[in-house]
Amino acid sequence: MTVTKNGDVSFWFADMGGLPPCRAPLPGDIDVDVCIVGAGFTGLWTAYYLKQAQPGLSIAVVEKDFA
Ligand SMILES: Cc1cc2nc3c(=O)[nH]c(=O)nc-3n(C[C@H](O)[C@H](O)[C@H](O)COP(=O)(O)OP(=O)(O)OC[C@H]3O[C@@H](n4cnc5c(N)ncnc54)[C@H](O)[C@@H]3O)c2cc1C
Repeated sequence: MTVTKNGDVSFWFADMGGLPPCRAPLPGDIDVDVCIVGAGFTGLWTAYYLKQAQPGLSIAVVEKDFA
């Protein structure tokens, strides 16, 4: 039987063996129309609906941990 520790990463991440590797940080300054800080529900849905409303927008979502 596999025991999953509670209170750490989510069950879904724990179930697939832990967090996926982090992506490389931005190589430097970038130019975008909108920068969203935090890839939680609020950040990701904001990016999604902004893109629906105005597909031409360039949007960066910056996350310190993992999305
Ligand atoms: C244990 C637990 C269980 C829950 N279960 C449920 C559930 O079953 N169903 C449900 O609907 N809701 C659940 N919730 C609530 C849900 O997780 C929150 O309502 C939701 O995550 C809030 O979304 P958010 O985008 O506002 O914040 P968050 O999800 O907290 O996202 C904020 C993001 O911003 C990032 N961030 C913060 N500071 C910086 C910075 N300076 N630079 C870059 N990135 C940054 C964080 O790393 C994080 O990824 C649960 C919450 C907890 C704690």
